Amino acid sequence: MSMSKALTGARIFDGTSWHDDKALLVADGRIEALVAQTDLAEGVEIIDVSGQMIVPGFIDLQVNGGGGVLLNEATTVAGIAQICSAHARLGTTGLLPTLITDTPAITAAAIEAGKQAMRERVAGFLGLHLEGPHLSLARKGAHDPALIRPMLEEDLERILSCRGVFQALMTTVAPESVTPEQVTRLAEAGFIVSIGHTDSSYATAEIYAAAGARTVTHLFNAMSPLAHREPGIVGAALDIGALHAGLIADGIHVHPVAMGVALRAKTGPGRIFLVTDAMSTIGTDLTSFTLNGREILRRDGRLTLADGTLAGADIDMISSVRFVHDTLGLPLEEALRMASAYPAEAAKLSDRKGAIRPGLDADFVVLTDKLDVQSTWIGGTCVYRAS
Ligand SMILES: [Zn+2]
Repeated sequence: MSMSKALTGARIFDGTSWHDDKALLVADGRIEALVAQTDLAEGVEIIDVSGQMIVPGFIDLQVNGGGGVLLNEATTVAGIAQICSAHARLGTTGLLPTLITDTPAITAAAIEAGKQAMRERVAGFLGLHLEGPHLSLARKGAHDPALIRPMLEEDLERILSCRGVFQALMTTVAPESVTPEQVTRLAEAGFIVSIGHTDSSYATAEIYAAAGARTVTHLFNAMSPLAHREPGIVGAALDIGALHAGLIADGIHVHPVAMGVALRAKTGPGRIFLVTDAMSTIGTDLTSFTLNGREILRRDGRLTLADGTLAGADIDMISSVRFVHDTLGLPLEEALRMASAYPAEAAKLSDRKGAIRPGLDADFVVLTDKLDVQSTWIGGTCVYRAS
């Protein structure tokens, strides 16, 4: 058993309420307890974080890259590790590197790299998100139309080969390219099936939710909108209680008013959670990069193809939390839950992650009162500390 550590002097947000004058006790990679600072046993390593906040680590279920690396261009353990470490500096303690629609060979390579990264216990790596290629051409966004295609049995088998490997594996599919029976087989194998990049109707979404789809991918973006006679996928995401939905909170992908309306409309148990949809630019000065051989430009907080189509986001998790709190005016507690508890629930990880509670993984972030990341901890180990 490794020596217990105690982080002292901070206000601690456990995901529900704040604790003052408590120390966070960590041992063997888990949260051991919140104890009165005066009750600390001798021999515990004290880490003084006075005047700061400790909050649950952020979980990002859709993140294509970071630190100069794009998963599509680096389907290796090193690529995955680079993405995880770039986002750890911004408060993310668990993520799903996300493969944008690509060839069967690249998809297989990403899965192999993911399996290896799992064996090597890359810090922060939870599993993969396969976004496509089984999408709708009508709502392709930045996905290469030449690579979009229906799901074949061999595609399904490739995903099913990951059964039990990852902490979570998510796949974004469109009803135009995947059958309800395929959704059910994936869901029954424990995978998170997300409806996205689709022009489907509300009625179709109901059928796919009943078949086992659990989430909706980047609410509002690349999907049929909420109209008065056809509520579309947006209407389904907000109306069907069981569906969870990811949201890109950069103020560019979705208007703040639309975000606010959606957040007020959504009733549980499914929740709206934050995703970054970040690309390789995060944590770098890159001004352009390549996806499926096409150049993507970075300008004024936007990433676009030459024709102006948005191609992922240029935002990180702590900035998304700030946006939800500062611009949308949600309480800080709710903004933090949208980055931790809610994605954990969506990915069925709540028994291990998403809060600060005895027995859960010791994944947390130390923040200043200005919401700057001071240090990031994964499994009780400090993986980043601001200089
Ligand atoms: Zn997308």
